[in-house]
Amino acid sequence: MRVFNTITRKKEEFKPINNNHINMYVCGPTVYDLFHIGNARTFVVFDVVRRYFEYKGYTVKFVQNFTDIDDKIINKANENDEDIFKVSEKYIWEYYKDAENLHIKRATINPKATENINEMIFLIDELVKNDYAYESNGDVYFNISSFKEYGKLFGQDIKTLKAGSRIQINKDKKDPLDFILWKKAKDGEPYYESPWGNGRPGWHTECCAMIGKYFKGETIDIHGGGFDLIFPHHENEIAQREVLINKPLANYWMHCSFLNINKEKMSKSLGNFFTTREIVEKYSGNILRFFLLSSHYRNELCFSEDQLVWSNKSLSRIFNAYKFLDIYEEESKVKNIKERRYIDDINKFKDKFIEKMDDDFNTSDGISVIFEFVKFINAYGENFTEEDRVYAKNIFNEFFSVLGIEFEEDNQCRELSEEVREMIKTRWECKRERDFSSADKIRDSLLSLGIVLEDIPKGVRVVNSKDNRIIDTILY
Ligand SMILES: [Zn+2]
Repeated sequence: MRVFNTITRKKEEFKPINNNHINMYVCGPTVYDLFHIGNARTFVVFDVVRRYFEYKGYTVKFVQNFTDIDDKIINKANENDEDIFKVSEKYIWEYYKDAENLHIKRATINPKATENINEMIFLIDELVKNDYAYESNGDVYFNISSFKEYGKLFGQDIKTLKAGSRIQINKDKKDPLDFILWKKAKDGEPYYESPWGNGRPGWHTECCAMIGKYFKGETIDIHGGGFDLIFPHHENEIAQREVLINKPLANYWMHCSFLNINKEKMSKSLGNFFTTREIVEKYSGNILRFFLLSSHYRNELCFSEDQLVWSNKSLSRIFNAYKFLDIYEEESKVKNIKERRYIDDINKFKDKFIEKMDDDFNTSDGISVIFEFVKFINAYGENFTEEDRVYAKNIFNEFFSVLGIEFEEDNQCRELSEEVREMIKTRWECKRERDFSSADKIRDSLLSLGIVLEDIPKGVRVVNSKDNRIIDTILY
């Protein structure tokens, strides 16, 4: 297996520290709102990394934190005049709900920042005692000059980083790149007592202290997160830990690229986002998940509704091939075909899928292999013996379990028949010619077929009346 390691900037042969066990940590959400589909990409990608290791026979300890104390949470609580811990608790449960709908497996442990304050104070205290950090006016900063390798993950040395950084005037810091470990409490904020006065730990210290605690101070196999966490967050985690333990925090650093919308990164601060919840409600967890995995995790992925419609159709093709294997069952009993066996052919698809996934978790190429498999089944499935059929279904189940796709018998991913498409088009033309009564008649007949039409500029959106999920968007 090969994994792209951010710190060496190359694909490396993956060697776990323990023979068949993987320790991995992924930075989790700050719980002050529903997570958007850009965040969902990172969560789904690392869920697949974990599932793939498990598929290959490893046990995985997967730790992902909840940042449940932070400026954003405090602001949200103040805006709504709520208790900050009520806000964070609420959004932790909302996270679990959305994650479950996206088929993201529960982490082995989801530690909360507020449950690990003592561990963070202990870590900061160690850093201060050893002169890697200093107290200044109630705040505590990490002194980056004390760690010569600072910048190694990001790939720049301290000098270059200094030249490139915007110099912020902060008389409390010895160096503009020094980062905060402990923040002095402001009026009205929740605080904890510490050797440096009342305050709370900074975010960079949170992950670092948790990794130390939940992996017992050992180097972990994989540390993951989004691209935007490489610098400064992960760089700062490395600095805090490695000055003290003198061994790597993690052997492999994996980072997931952005989800773009209209050529910009989808983000809360730009306001150009969709929540996972609204997309799952409109489409489905399967469809969103399939879309998020359709590109390799290190490539940028562009969001558009067309892409979701494409995912819908793709899943439909895959599920239909899976269902046909049951239909063939009845036929093969009648025909009692014995002469041809397809097990070797079927195995080739499995081997190819594994080869793609072994190459830095290439889900995009893995999905292409599944499409080839579907084509093969459509061409030869009717000749399968019972053994072939059961075998092919198992292979499908393996692909589904790695990607976290759940087969839906009555999936919403129905493709529109040519006949229905024709009716929709005729209705559109009637409307254009202002023949509204004919248009309405067609609309009613479609409704009796379980299809709702919503007019949008230059076209229609086709919705399943049972669950309100979008089947297609047709533009004329
Ligand atoms: Zn983190």
